[in-house]
Amino acid sequence: VLITKPEIRIIRVTEEADRLIEEAARGCYSSEISPTDEKRAQFIASLKRRKHLSPFEHASATFQLKNVSRALTHQLVRHRLASFSQQSQRYTEPEVFSYVVPPRVNEDEIARELFMRHRDFTMQAYDMLRQRRGILKEDARFLLPNATPAEIVFTANFRQLLYMIQLRTEASAQWEIRRVFEIIHDMMSDHYPSIFGSRDISTVSA
Ligand SMILES: Cc1cc2nc3c(=O)[nH]c(=O)nc-3n(C[C@H](O)[C@H](O)[C@H](O)COP(=O)(O)OP(=O)(O)OC[C@H]3O[C@@H](n4cnc5c(N)ncnc54)[C@H](O)[C@@H]3O)c2cc1C
Repeated sequence: VLITKPEIRIIRVTEEADRLIEEAARGCYSSEISPTDEKRAQFIASLKRRKHLSPFEHASATFQLKNVSRALTHQLVRHRLASFSQQSQRYTEPEVFSYVVPPRVNEDEIARELFMRHRDFTMQAYDMLRQRRGILKEDARFLLPNATPAEIVFTANFRQLLYMIQLRTEASAQWEIRRVFEIIHDMMSDHYPSIFGSRDISTVSA
């Protein structure tokens, strides 16, 4: 099976995060909580504009990603201020040998065929190591490529999440991680438009 789409789910997100962020920031100025959602949105926008970003660290979101490549998770875990739990290749083995396929490979018949042949060979070699040679999963996994699907749960506070969205949705970001963060950005914008709504979050520095 060639996988063309990631599966992304929000496991948890801080409730009333906009209120929490405002309360944290208001404490700094000993000022009153906004009387309306509109005023709160304006206040949150002003925090971002002035780069008063520590209040955004009090809220967080946890995501589950499936059907992403091992190449993607390798990039993701470079974000040192987020927390991760990744499916182990030492304790689990591929049930079905699926590969995550880049769109440019999928659209090219010959490239796709080469991908499938690589997958078939890898599957056979992996099975032979495991079944015939008694090789442990932790060693057989050395055969698995960047295209191997991975499952990962990550948590980031909103300051870090804004930064990750900004960095990973830029045109220079690699296509798979860019697509994942575009989806994450849409999801978070639905939850908290006043925090994540604007696509222009370039004022945020982590
Ligand atoms: C387009 C692109 C290409 C890339 N190419 C490569 C590549 O070829 N090779 C490669 O190895 N990596 C590459 N990376 C990964 C990149 O170098 C970072 O490791 C990754 O993006 C994580 O970002 P970060 O370090 O800014 O942030 P995070 O680890 O998410 O940390 C957030 C912020 O906290 C601060 N921070 C965290 N830790 C420290 C610290 N120790 N010292 C000072 N400040 C800190 C920084 O301000 C940082 O921006 C690439 C990333 C992108 C987006």
